[in-house]
Amino acid sequence: QAKVAGRNTMCFFDPAMQEDISNRAKLEIELFDAVKHNHFQLFYQIQVNHLQQPVGAEALIRWLHPQKGIIPPIEFIPSAEESGLIIPLGQWIMDTACQQLKQWRQNPTTQDLTISINVSAKQFRQSKFVEQVTDTIKRHGINPAKLKMELTESLLLDDINNTITQMHALGRLGIQFSLDDFGTGYSSLQYLKKLPLYQLKIDRSFIDELLTDKSDQSIVKTIISMAQSLGFSVIAEGVETLDQQQFLQGEGCLNYQGYLFGKPIPIDEFENLFDEMLGLDKPLKRSNQA
Ligand code: C2E
Ligand code: MG
Ligand code: MG
Ligand code: MG
Repeated sequence: QAKVAGRNTMCFFDPAMQEDISNRAKLEIELFDAVKHNHFQLFYQIQVNHLQQPVGAEALIRWLHPQKGIIPPIEFIPSAEESGLIIPLGQWIMDTACQQLKQWRQNPTTQDLTISINVSAKQFRQSKFVEQVTDTIKRHGINPAKLKMELTESLLLDDINNTITQMHALGRLGIQFSLDDFGTGYSSLQYLKKLPLYQLKIDRSFIDELLTDKSDQSIVKTIISMAQSLGFSVIAEGVETLDQQQFLQGEGCLNYQGYLFGKPIPIDEFENLFDEMLGLDKPLKRSNQA
């Protein structure tokens, strides 16, 4: 038996650490199995414009674990990235989103809807990513302009020149890019202007206290005017109240996503929500407007 370690000495066999490692290994094995058996589902969260009309959806993955139930992406995406399982999983996400776009294409009321998928760094950095996207779009016969990709600042910054080349190649296909969680990274104007982006997506953390926090207000205003001067569209995530939406609209942010309009939900529920919203000839409960 090892001697009891004194204070402040490094202990390589810390049982907590050991447990952590074996939990991670276990998760990876289960994840491998889940990818093999397709134990995932895409949920869709509605995105609307300032008239509160649906313009599209963000696809958000859920793991349907046979014992544990629905597992949120935060609990397995990092592990999927580390293990490389994000590659087959990312392909499945793209295929599923494209299948959905293909269905929506058949119907005049849904044909203009876009789907945004979240693309992780490892997936984006694959040498054959552009080929895979091209092939997927062709295989499903969809309009590439309806498939949007959400990238994060850290992904972009990691290898900026390669990123720009890759974005241009995908942009030529017709794909549009949204910069996710904007404001939480270290974007400089210097490189923002070089990126072939379509949209900035304001991070939820600036929206939460938007009505009371003056610095959040100025950050949000700055992001919006920056987007405007660079020619990007802007969308806010995490919009939960009508007051937040109206503040954003007043500052010129004309696209929104958040619980105010709908949570991420399975496709059949999403389509019901969509029908419901279309059925209204007036915007949803605009309480302080006549
Ligand atoms: P994200 O791309 O920034 O997605 C937005 C997250 O905010 C989602 O969490 C969504 O459910 C949540 N959200 C949206 N509106 C509201 C709101 O009004 N209030 C609150 N409190 N939350 C809101 P979710 O679905 O748990 O996803 C978390 C993160 O996991 C995503 O952040 C994204 O980075 C990642 N992720 C999700 N799906 C995928 C995927 O298919 N591929 C990859 N690579 N990452 C994914
Ligand atoms: Mg996203
Ligand atoms: Mg986001
Ligand atoms: Mg976020």
